[in-house]
Amino acid sequence: MEGLRACVHCGICLPQCPTYRVLGEEMDSPRGRIYLMRAAADGRIALTPTLARHLDLCLGCRGCETACPSGVPFGSLLEATRGQIERRGIRSPESDQGTLSLLLALFPYPDRMAALLPALRLYQGSGLQALVRGLGLLAPFRRLRTMEALLPRVPGVGSARLEELTPARGGKPRGRAGLLVGCVQRFFYPDVNAQTARLLAAAGYEVVAPREQGCCGALHLHSGRLDDFRAMAKQLVASFRGDVDVIVANAAGCGSALKEYGHWLQDPEAEAFSQKVKDISEVLVDADLPLGELPVTVTYQDACHLAHGQKVRAEPRALLRRIPGLKLVELAESDLCCGSAGVYNLVEPGMAAELGRRTAERIRETGASIVAAGNPGCIMQMDRACRALGLNVEIVHPVSLLARALREAP
Ligand code: SF4
Ligand code: SF4
Repeated sequence: MEGLRACVHCGICLPQCPTYRVLGEEMDSPRGRIYLMRAAADGRIALTPTLARHLDLCLGCRGCETACPSGVPFGSLLEATRGQIERRGIRSPESDQGTLSLLLALFPYPDRMAALLPALRLYQGSGLQALVRGLGLLAPFRRLRTMEALLPRVPGVGSARLEELTPARGGKPRGRAGLLVGCVQRFFYPDVNAQTARLLAAAGYEVVAPREQGCCGALHLHSGRLDDFRAMAKQLVASFRGDVDVIVANAAGCGSALKEYGHWLQDPEAEAFSQKVKDISEVLVDADLPLGELPVTVTYQDACHLAHGQKVRAEPRALLRRIPGLKLVELAESDLCCGSAGVYNLVEPGMAAELGRRTAERIRETGASIVAAGNPGCIMQMDRACRALGLNVEIVHPVSLLARALREAP
């Protein structure tokens, strides 16, 4: 908790904090939260439900970390404090632990997610979803309504199949890339994983996606369930134990957690693993990709765990600009959290909806017909927020646009 002492209370981070901008409360700002965490660490105040509530409302977006001139490592301080709150079972009456526990018992487990998909397909394919939405049948049930509104189109059976090994195209491979398939990405956006493998292969990488890989544990890390997170992280490291030169993530939240395994696990194998992790945009930015014309106007939203967690901002933009015919228009305040933040939009729907609405308003100002973002949660959140505003835009991962433009030799 040494990092808490680095804060000099200057307040430079305050305008970059989404919750402070909405609520205007010092205790819901980075400086206020640091004050609370430090007072608790020094034993001047107890960890109380009120303190827990101020930390619950934090998105963990780490926008404050980017703004801070003193280098306060807000994200890891927040996660460590949440870990203490979790261990002691301190709960704010407003916190929705039931939904959080349900989500943490579902998303990270591929067999449970796979069992749920047929029911979701039936719900969408039978017309029931259209009926439920049209008649507003879930209006009295806020949590359920929020979950339902975030549900993307569930892919069909066997769509966008990803092989365990994708050979490199062209001559001698330039390296071997291990691909993290994620949880939400694997089940709701399998096309993004398939496109990622295709682009890596076109860039000269042999791609291996180990079947036995599980969840990266990011959701547990952000919720302070550190023991579960460490167990998942160890399993994931073991599943990539083969000979890979780079480990590629295409979901910002997962990639950020992977890069921090060394810090949280404190063992040399986890450190070596973290050193190999790269976001897909970092890998492709220098690759020689044959790209054809794609005449569309696109804007780009920085996923927080890419821009603030991994400091990756230039690479996705540079890649999009390389697509002939694609016009990239900047989005105002593109690095301000859209309200997704892992499962935050499901457990804090009020704040998340307000942040989503603000993001959708800024998207409307760009006039773009497509929004690109490097994280599945952000894609779902912005899709819902834009629909709520009546905005007809497509929200996609940047690799989907690159894959559309890719011209491969037969
Ligand atoms: S992590 Fe995000 S929401 Fe939390 S204090 Fe920092 S800027 Fe605010
Ligand atoms: S976290 Fe950094 S920017 Fe914010 S008040 Fe402290 S020193 Fe200033």
